[in-house]
Amino acid sequence: ESVVNRIAAGEVIQRPVSAVKELVENSLDASSTSISVLVKDGGLKLIQVSDDGHGIRYEDLPILCERHTTSKLSKYEDLQSIKSMGFRGEALASMTYVGHVTVTTITRGQLHGYRVSYRDGVMENEPKACAAVKGTQIVIENLFYNMIARRKTLQNSADDYTKIVDLLSRFAIHHIDVSFSCRKHGAARADVHSVATPSRLNAIRSVYGLLVAQNLIKIEASDNDPSSSVFEMDGFISNSNYVAKKTTMVLFINDRLVECTALKRALEVVYVATLPKASKPFIYMSITLPPEHVDVNVHPTKREVSLLNQEVIVEKMQSVVESVLRNSNE
Ligand code: ADP
Ligand code: MG
Repeated sequence: ESVVNRIAAGEVIQRPVSAVKELVENSLDASSTSISVLVKDGGLKLIQVSDDGHGIRYEDLPILCERHTTSKLSKYEDLQSIKSMGFRGEALASMTYVGHVTVTTITRGQLHGYRVSYRDGVMENEPKACAAVKGTQIVIENLFYNMIARRKTLQNSADDYTKIVDLLSRFAIHHIDVSFSCRKHGAARADVHSVATPSRLNAIRSVYGLLVAQNLIKIEASDNDPSSSVFEMDGFISNSNYVAKKTTMVLFINDRLVECTALKRALEVVYVATLPKASKPFIYMSITLPPEHVDVNVHPTKREVSLLNQEVIVEKMQSVVESVLRNSNE
């Protein structure tokens, strides 16, 4: 059974960056205002995510890492209107089958926290009382220690660290009321260091740099036509002065970080047609759709989102971007 669990877990947690995404989403779900990530050896030696969120109650610790244990879903119908990012209760459990997980946590009003380690879905020992200030720290050590082939293919750890920095950068420009940092173990300075700010442009400047931030145009659109689509969209897109080698598309749908290749390609087509010299855009878009239009009940590894009326939405985004670009180019 443990082999089957390990294989399933290896599917949920495919690389270090998948673990970081799950941990950061848990921290966001816990209403954190500050999230720091520390990475050693591309995440294979150590991934540490610390937050200042609401913490985990003592009585929840024994089952925390059991599969399908989630505090975020009480009824099946909730799936339709799910707001929080986690709901399967699979991420932490999976991590314990492919790495060594240690949780340190304190809930509000407690004098001390608890620390406990997990392996293969169960606690290794009783939770030990320990000093803690606020929130939760989750450490994963020796990721894929029991999956030799996977470890080998991930040896190029620089690549995975780059993916982790990229991930944190995306979270940081969307959740601007949260401070984020991401640091390589032993490094003097953080590679992502973004302080909570009311201004999205400030956040983009601090994460992606001035060259991006000074060449952005704000976009906003909404549609209330229930027969075709209901959505709200806002974001920033690059102007004719922004020249890059590749497109950066940061997409959040209902506050979930997702990929939508069809939308990305469609917007690239608009740029090629209207700004051929700046045809590799930077795009940050946050789209809100009725929850029942977004299929969230997909496998956790599937970052590619599927939307009801996807073609209609894609076409609308194309026309919004096109008209904004034409106006700015006049
Ligand atoms: P899910 O997010 O789908 O509920 P996870 O396996 O990611 O499942 O997490 C299991 C449970 O552990 C969560 O439902 C939550 O109650 C708790 N949890 C995990 N990380 C944190 C955190 N950083 N702060 C508070 N609670 C957490
Ligand atoms: Mg989760």
